[in-house]
Amino acid sequence: MFWELSALAIGLPYSRPGRSGNASQILGRVASSLFQPGTMSPMIVVVCVKQIPDPADPGALDPETKTLKRDVKLILDESDSYGVEMGLQLVDAAGEGEVRLVSMAPNSEVSGLRTALAMGAESAVLVSDEALAGSDALSTAKVLTAAIARCEPDLILTGTESSDGYTGTVPAQVAELMDLPSVTFAKEIAVADGVATVKRQTEDGYDEIKCSLPAVVSVTAGVVEPRYPSFKGIMAAKNKPVDEVDLTGLGIDPSTVGWAGAGQEITDIAEAPAREAGEVVVDEGDAHERVLAFLDDLKVI
Ligand SMILES: Cc1cc2nc3c(=O)[nH]c(=O)nc-3n(C[C@H](O)[C@H](O)[C@H](O)COP(=O)(O)OP(=O)(O)OC[C@H]3O[C@@H](n4cnc5c(N)ncnc54)[C@H](O)[C@@H]3O)c2cc1C
Repeated sequence: MFWELSALAIGLPYSRPGRSGNASQILGRVASSLFQPGTMSPMIVVVCVKQIPDPADPGALDPETKTLKRDVKLILDESDSYGVEMGLQLVDAAGEGEVRLVSMAPNSEVSGLRTALAMGAESAVLVSDEALAGSDALSTAKVLTAAIARCEPDLILTGTESSDGYTGTVPAQVAELMDLPSVTFAKEIAVADGVATVKRQTEDGYDEIKCSLPAVVSVTAGVVEPRYPSFKGIMAAKNKPVDEVDLTGLGIDPSTVGWAGAGQEITDIAEAPAREAGEVVVDEGDAHERVLAFLDDLKVI
């Protein structure tokens, strides 16, 4: 693992602004934080949060563009509330630091960001630009990468997949673009001395993975209990800084994102099939066996 860390420090294309330096300086700093616990500077956790149409309202697809209509009020994707909670807990455990949010959303939407700020995040970067309409997953990852780089992260958290038009590919794409380690499906994260130890959920249990920081870690939904924003938190969130940037501000050529840059195309859309009624198990003495067999088929036991 420490060899991997050395390689990362030497070949690092991404360096934390304000902490830049040549490879040996970076390596020296990382090594000193590895071997002298407690010498790390305040921990900055960046959490990517998607703002989505409220799933409680029936969503509508635009028949022309075949994409979800997003010209409604957007809310914090519940999948990302787990990343926010995990980030807040990690900062608490570190004793010093903060959670910074990054979001790409249309129409300068901040409602979902305000919810996450009310939970305890300190600030946000919002990327909003008309030219982003039609952006596919890779374009989204490019934009998020540029925004994350402004936040000086020690750790980047995302959800595993979003709840609306999910592909589940953005976290790994961000890691690849930043040339950082990518760890997926985290159920527990611990950070110490420049290394993240992640319990990564699998079908049978979990794998324990160690990786050097900074890293991109996607958090499995449901593994922590997202806190409810307090009244004080909601009031404080109104005054927390949201830095809105457009593509020019990020130095991104508009022709490489949005419809113009999309490598993916939605060729067709169709109504989702109506949900079927469940199976009623009438107990004729063997109900427990049939329920067990059903759960076994689903691989939940
Ligand atoms: C051809 C095409 C056209 C599209 N057109 C539009 C459009 O016109 N308007 C539109 O709004 N969307 C559009 N989308 C969807 C949009 O760009 C998605 O945000 C993108 O595809 C990635 O989201 P995902 O849900 O697949 O991410 P996933 O990989 O499922 O998400 C995983 C995690 O990545 C992070 N993440 C993902 N997206 C964001 C985000 N936007 N901000 C912050 N964090 C994020 C979150 O932490 C999330 O939990 C389009 C997609 C395609 C394929």
